[in-house]
Amino acid sequence: MTQRFPCYLVMKDSAGHVTSGVGERAVDDLPPGELLIRVAYSSLNYKDALAMEGHPGVVRSFPHIPGIDAAGTVEESANPNYQPGQEVLVTSYELGAGRWGGYAGYVRVPADWVVPLPKGLTLRESMILGTAGFTAAMSVRALQRHDITPEKGEVLVTGATGGVGSLSILLLARLGYTVVAVSGKPEAEPQLKAWGASQILGRDTLTDISSRPLLSARWAGAIDTVGGKPLANVLRATKPWGCVAACGLVAGVDVPLTIYPFILRGVTLSGIDSATCPTDIRRDLWHRLANEWKLDNLADLVDEINLSDLPGKAAEILLGKIVGRTLVVPMP
Ligand code: NDP
Repeated sequence: MTQRFPCYLVMKDSAGHVTSGVGERAVDDLPPGELLIRVAYSSLNYKDALAMEGHPGVVRSFPHIPGIDAAGTVEESANPNYQPGQEVLVTSYELGAGRWGGYAGYVRVPADWVVPLPKGLTLRESMILGTAGFTAAMSVRALQRHDITPEKGEVLVTGATGGVGSLSILLLARLGYTVVAVSGKPEAEPQLKAWGASQILGRDTLTDISSRPLLSARWAGAIDTVGGKPLANVLRATKPWGCVAACGLVAGVDVPLTIYPFILRGVTLSGIDSATCPTDIRRDLWHRLANEWKLDNLADLVDEINLSDLPGKAAEILLGKIVGRTLVVPMP
């Protein structure tokens, strides 16, 4: 198909300078794959902003089209499980990293990356959730699998106003947990409470730099989206047999810690990697997000932009300034 479509292109010149902006490509330029999907929505995640800068940890080759999330309609299928016209979503794997992603009118992907849109979710809702919502769901699943029920006590969420943070609060509150939020935005307190947080703490709560191996135990569980020293502080203050699900690194990649939270309190550190989540778990979690974990207030969480708005929004997310989720509409 020679049809052309708008996309957001990241390029690198021979001197190594990265530039990016809205461009155009033809469907024939897309990489090979069983499914051609016309993209209705993508979303903005922290990783997308890194890809837009050509971050070597995310982008494998240039020119590149970022967008780790895409939801839309199957246009062509070489797989009997999918028919043209079917609504689907794609998150994770190599989308928007090793393969051209959702900031485009079309994506072409292997069929096993695709999840049929579950009944109960619209395409738009699926991308308000996107990788952030899926990661929040994986984190909640990790807490549940480690017996962190609402009766066990308070659950802490760091990076609370971010994509994963906000959706973690909403999901935990929906499931009856008492949620304490850590945020660097004091002005967001009313919003965080509206999402279901019972108490808001400043980021300074997690800056204890003493060498004490353990702190006073408060958290039954936690969803940490920031990593670094804050994660070490969360683990040191987690109650015996508690669980901390960790997915992020915005506060750093080094976690200064001793073994004591693990061997004196039996604390579990549960790593979350949404990109490699096995298909059966992936489909089950999307089904839950469309049914018993369905969030009614998703529309309150979102700002909608087009491709030309991406640079400004990406700069904001890298500075930790965005509250909630940003939906990207690639086609005019
Ligand atoms: P966002 O930028 O939307 O959210 C991050 C939030 O963290 C910010 O809104 C801010 O919230 C807080 N924050 C920002 N900078 C700092 C800092 N220096 N120290 C402490 N807190 C900070 O990002 P996402 O929600 O998209 O992603 C969050 C993290 O999770 C990222 O590191 C991302 O790469 C990772 N991630 C990992 C996945 C996985 O599978 N492992 C999947 C998806 C995301 P506030 O102002 O409220 O404190």
